[in-house]
Amino acid sequence: MSTQEQQGVVRDGVHYHKFDIVIVGAGGAGMRAALEAGPNANVAVISKLYPTRSHTGAAQGGMAAALSNVEEDNWEWHTYDTVKGGDYLVDQDAAEILAKEAIDAVIDLENMGLPFNRTPEGKIDQRRFGGHTRDHGKAAVRRSCYAADRTGHMILQTLYQNCVKLGINFFNEYYVLDLITVKEDGQTRIAGVVSYELATGELHVFQAKAIIFATGGFGKIYKTTSNAHTLTGDGVGIVWRKGLPLEDMEFFQFHPTGLYGLGILLTEGARGEGAILRNASGERFMERYAPTIKDLAPRDIVARSMVQEVAEGRGAGPHKDYVYLDCTHLGAEVLETKLPDITEFARTYLGVDPVTEPVPVMPTAHYAMGGIPTTNDAEVLAANTTVVPGLYAAGECACVSVHGSNRLGTNSLLDINVFGKRAGRNAVAYVNKTPDWLPIPEDPAKEVRELIEGLRAGTGTERIATLRKTLQDEMDRNAQVFRTDESLAGVLGVIEELRARYKNVHVDDKGRRFNTDLLEAVELGFLLDIAEVVVYAARNRKESRGGHQRDDYPKRDDVNYLKHTMAYLTGDPHSSDATDHVTLDWKPVVITRYQPMERKY
Ligand SMILES: Cc1cc2nc3c(=O)[nH]c(=O)nc-3n(C[C@H](O)[C@H](O)[C@H](O)COP(=O)(O)OP(=O)(O)OC[C@H]3O[C@@H](n4cnc5c(N)ncnc54)[C@H](O)[C@@H]3O)c2cc1C
Repeated sequence: MSTQEQQGVVRDGVHYHKFDIVIVGAGGAGMRAALEAGPNANVAVISKLYPTRSHTGAAQGGMAAALSNVEEDNWEWHTYDTVKGGDYLVDQDAAEILAKEAIDAVIDLENMGLPFNRTPEGKIDQRRFGGHTRDHGKAAVRRSCYAADRTGHMILQTLYQNCVKLGINFFNEYYVLDLITVKEDGQTRIAGVVSYELATGELHVFQAKAIIFATGGFGKIYKTTSNAHTLTGDGVGIVWRKGLPLEDMEFFQFHPTGLYGLGILLTEGARGEGAILRNASGERFMERYAPTIKDLAPRDIVARSMVQEVAEGRGAGPHKDYVYLDCTHLGAEVLETKLPDITEFARTYLGVDPVTEPVPVMPTAHYAMGGIPTTNDAEVLAANTTVVPGLYAAGECACVSVHGSNRLGTNSLLDINVFGKRAGRNAVAYVNKTPDWLPIPEDPAKEVRELIEGLRAGTGTERIATLRKTLQDEMDRNAQVFRTDESLAGVLGVIEELRARYKNVHVDDKGRRFNTDLLEAVELGFLLDIAEVVVYAARNRKESRGGHQRDDYPKRDDVNYLKHTMAYLTGDPHSSDATDHVTLDWKPVVITRYQPMERKY
């Protein structure tokens, strides 16, 4: 392959590039994949953000691995906690891989130069986190490896530095907007991606033998969220629009400790260090909901307990609508050295000093358990048992499923490292046995050009910000910690109305250079598509499990629902009734050694 082919050849105003492997996304998962693939293939990483601005850099509390550095632990206990934490919707073979490969994943990062916090003997220090226990739930265990409350920042910087050292080709501030697919014998095959260069407004086609999606989450379907503005689910939306399935989209995690009214995250590491949740009267209410591990119960349980405290009139503040995270007994030194960032967040954004006062908190939309279904080798599924050859996904955009219906804290930084690495390795293996690139269609950028030009030339009157705000407000009100058929039907109706209004959306900026207005319109399209699937699947799951709590079906129902949801786009994608174009199916859960039990903590 020539350098010129990598740099791009221009034909009819479109740049054409050719690589063995294209990775979409430069967060933790994308860059871990790039490091694995880089030495053995020609790799391009395409990212809408400069790599070190990816959301992985915002991760605070840590990365789980049963290293046993500070107390006894093993990967089998970690597997069990992950399965139980996910309310038994976890594929247990995948959870075993996650827990076993965790140890090497941490050591890989250490060898790359990551500055973890250390014990006095110089080992990597470990702290407690929600749902991570010793000996099958007996007590909380120290399993999370951390670098103060900036673990994600350190991971992202370390991975990026190593990618630069390896000479990986980065295409930064390029938005991938389409996956080029070809049908062969009725099967979907992939030939490349189409992207939009922010600086110039020009289109770039990247031909590739293997493609890895690592585009992160989609928390911006909600208003109150810990997620960055850029987490609009583009990769998940692109795959969906190609008719490929999405798995378990109804399961969204609400992190218990978002700063009240803002949703900015205060890491669970605070409770790992001993912070306590209290209601208006100062009661440590988690003692009633999870008597054994209390404030360190998994997030779904803690978030629900908080909302219940408020609903039953025990909330604090003038409107009795929040609870407190009390860190005052930890002392200034622990807060300043082990939790410096969140201490500063509380001071800056709420004017509350955690050293002397409890901090007002409420749950915040945090993590997508669902996403693009993959095998344990990160291969994207076209249906329950068939894969799309050469297409991979890893990180938050993917659903392996190691998190089931509720992810344990610190298991995502782990997931991106373990499955990012697997995606990179397997993409290389695929490229090695694939001599040639698939031919691309005559004008592969046609659909993206029409989308962009349609938005630019449109004479619509609907404001992007208004539509987005209506969606986010409605999702917060009706598809948050507690849901009912009525609330979900309501929000689905609003989404359908917004999808119709979106056809008439107005873009102020008609220019070509750095047109973020235009891209916000495109991102809003992905948010609307994804929210529709989330809500549609949530209505269909008439039980309560993990992050999906139905007031009208408050019990877990293993007889009817111990299975993954698989959603497909079928029929007319533009119709205003979801039943016309969303089809739901099921996929069995892989159970190896842990039969579903009642979840007690
Ligand atoms: C505030 C916060 C704190 C957290 N703390 C922890 C923690 O302590 N421990 C833990 O385990 N987990 C934590 N998480 C979760 C965890 O950080 C994320 O799930 C994980 O980092 C996601 O990594 P990723 O590589 O999948 O995606 P990201 O890091 O979000 O990266 C996505 C990448 O995709 C690119 N991209 C997206 N769309 C496009 C497009 N259309 N074209 C081109 N590129 C695109 C972006 O530019 C970016 O580079 C936290 C999350 C948040 C929000």
